[in-house]
Amino acid sequence: MSIEVFYDADADLSVVQERKVAVIGYGSQGHAHALSLRDSGVEVVIGLPEGSKSRAKAEEQGLDVRTPAEAAAWADLIMVLIPDTVQRQVYAEDIAPHLTEGKALAFAHGLNIHFGLIKPPADVDVIMIAPKAPGHLVRRQYVDGKGVPMLIAVEQNATGQARTVALSYAKAIGGTRAGAILTTFRDETETDLFGEQAVLAGGVSALVQTGFEVLTEAGYAPEIAYFECLHELKLIVDLMYEGGIARMRYSISDTAEFGDYTRGPRVVDARVKDEMRRILGEIQSGAFTRELIEDDDNGRARLLAYRAKAAEHPIEVTGRKLRDMMSWVDRPLTETA
Ligand code: NAD
Ligand code: MG
Ligand code: MG
Ligand code: MG
Ligand code: MG
Ligand code: MG
Repeated sequence: MSIEVFYDADADLSVVQERKVAVIGYGSQGHAHALSLRDSGVEVVIGLPEGSKSRAKAEEQGLDVRTPAEAAAWADLIMVLIPDTVQRQVYAEDIAPHLTEGKALAFAHGLNIHFGLIKPPADVDVIMIAPKAPGHLVRRQYVDGKGVPMLIAVEQNATGQARTVALSYAKAIGGTRAGAILTTFRDETETDLFGEQAVLAGGVSALVQTGFEVLTEAGYAPEIAYFECLHELKLIVDLMYEGGIARMRYSISDTAEFGDYTRGPRVVDARVKDEMRRILGEIQSGAFTRELIEDDDNGRARLLAYRAKAAEHPIEVTGRKLRDMMSWVDRPLTETA
C-alpha cells in the first residue's frame, strides 16, 4: 500500500487561523496543540471542568480556560484531547449540544469514532490529526522550528473542506514540517491498538518480565537479571530508533548477533505470531474495545487491580533499589519523594 504525504507547501495555515479552536483537555497532547496553535496565530480556548488540576497549568501560560461546554459552544473546531475512555461522556454532555452544522470535531486517536462510541451528526466534519509522538516531544520540536510526523484522516466531510482543515491544523502544530501522512480512522485506530498491545507495551513488558523470571528462578541474582533484561533495553532501542534493526545488530558483538538470529525466532515463534493474529482479530471485531469500556464502566476495577499487582513484581522491587545507584537516570517524582 502506498501512502500520501503532505508537507508545509501543501497546507494553508490561514484556514485554521480563520477558525476558533477549542482544545478540550490540557494533558500530554492538549498542552502541545494549544501552545503551538497559539504560536501559529490561531485563536484558542481550553475546555476543562471547574475543578480540574490542569486548569492552573493552562492559565499559567496565559491561555483562556473555560468549561468544556463553554469552549465547545464558542468554537467552530473542537479538538478532543482527553483520555479515550472519558471522551464519550464529555462528548454527550458538553460537546454534542453545541455541535452545530458546519463545525469540525477533531481527534488525535480514532478509537471513539471508529468503534461508534461517539456518533457525530452528519452535518459536521470529523477529522483526525494524530502526532506520532508524546505531547512533550510534539511541542519541543515545534519550538525548535521542526515537527514530528503526524497521521491525518477524514471520517466525515460535511463541508467539503475537511481535509484542508486537517492539513491546516497539522501545519499549525508542526506536522507538515516533518510530513503528514493521510490515513483512515480505521487504520490509525487498529494499528495503534495492535502496536501497543502486541509490541510496544504488552509484548515488551511480558518479554522483559519473563526473561527476568527465568534468570532469577534459575538462581541468578535479581540485580544482574534486571541489568540484562530491562536496563540494557534502552541502548538496544536507541540503536533501532536511529538506524533500524540492522544498525542495532552492527553495534552489538558478533556473539550477540549470532544469538539473536539463532534464538530470537525460537522465543517469538509461530505460536506467538498466531496469538498476535488473534489479538489483531479482537481489535478488528471491537471485542477489545468492548472489554475496555466494560471495565471503565465498572470503575476500572480490572485496570487498577492489574496495576497494583504488577507494581509488586520482583523486577520492580529490584529496579527501585538499583536506580538509586544510577545518578544519571531521571527518576519520576513518585520514586524520589
Ligand atoms: P492526558 O491523559 O495526558 O490528558 C488528559 C487531559 O484531559 C487532562 O488535562 C485532564 O485534566 C483532562 N480530563 C480528564 N478527564 C476529563 C473530563 N472528564 N473532562 C474534561 N477534561 C478531562 O491525555 P493524552 O495522553 O494527551 O491523550 C489525549 C488524546 O490524544 C487521546 O485520544 C490519546 O489517545 C491521544 N494521543 C496521545 C498521545 C500521547 O503521547 N499521550 C499520542 C498520540 C495521541
Ligand atoms: Mg497513563
Ligand atoms: Mg500509539
Ligand atoms: Mg494508543
Ligand atoms: Mg550483555
Ligand atoms: Mg556487530
